[in-house]
Amino acid sequence: MSAARLDGKACAEDLEQRLKQRIAECLVQPHLAVIIVGDDPASHVYVNNKIRSCERLGIRSTHIELPEDTDESVVAEHIRSMNAQEDLHGILIQSPLPNHMDEESLTELIDPRKDVDGFHPVNLGRLVQGRSDGMVPCTPSGVMEMLRWANVDLRGKKAVVLGRSFNVGMPQALLLAARGADATVTVVHSRTNNPQAECLQADVLVAAVGRPEMVKPDWVKEGAVVVDVGINRVEDSTRERGWRLAGDVHPDVASVASLVSPVPGGVGPMTVAMLMANTVTAAEQLTLS
Ligand code: NAP
Repeated sequence: MSAARLDGKACAEDLEQRLKQRIAECLVQPHLAVIIVGDDPASHVYVNNKIRSCERLGIRSTHIELPEDTDESVVAEHIRSMNAQEDLHGILIQSPLPNHMDEESLTELIDPRKDVDGFHPVNLGRLVQGRSDGMVPCTPSGVMEMLRWANVDLRGKKAVVLGRSFNVGMPQALLLAARGADATVTVVHSRTNNPQAECLQADVLVAAVGRPEMVKPDWVKEGAVVVDVGINRVEDSTRERGWRLAGDVHPDVASVASLVSPVPGGVGPMTVAMLMANTVTAAEQLTLS
């Protein structure tokens, strides 16, 4: 068997088409602000992708770049002022922040209605409650959208989520187990006794561990659907730049699975598309409230 490709790029393009219609009907131009602190090259690439996506869709964007040694109070002041700005609907703080900053406290300062990353405790709490009126974190909601787009029926299926971070693994598990999706979910983490045995049970496996190509073919059940969230830089002397991107799933898994998302071109574009969707939703809701 050679798995079909779960094409996140194509799914994101479809979603963008639907978003363009919503943006055209929105009473205001949606406006996203991105704050980035420091010079982590990967973070700058992610932010530039987000800004480019805004430009493509006609979403206004404000890009605030601050030096590594910025005091936390400066970021807090930006957030407070953005909370009060009526013509601004989404606020995103690019992760990771420098070590001297408390990311959780800063996230809690964001007005939950403008929390387009979905990381504010109010929004994560609504997700736990199964409510549909919160902002849902972009990566796991992007995975759900990809699975819907590919007509993967989750009802009664066994899903395994590899990773339990607050931004990917845990919200992913909640979304898969939520009413309507109805999968039966196992969460695997670094203290799990036998991660391979757990993964082998999965009809749907979502890998979000940050360990390059950790999921090998003998971790995957024949015909399973495998979603690779991982983005890892690995050394590669055959490339001019000396590195390549690798997922958390080994490419040979395609010989066992029925559907696999590629890296790049899988979950990455969906994460950005869901951020755009959250920004449009925030603009729609804030203009109605
Ligand atoms: P994270 O916060 O570092 O969490 C990693 C999780 O994996 C933790 O729960 C950890 O368990 C678990 N883990 C680590 N090593 C393990 C092992 N050997 N066996 C079992 N579990 C293990 O990372 P994250 O933010 O969730 O991101 C995960 C990956 O997704 C990274 O490669 C990241 O770059 C990528 N990512 C991609 C996107 C996208 O748009 N495509 C978005 C976000 C993240 P413990 O909790 O026990 O430590």
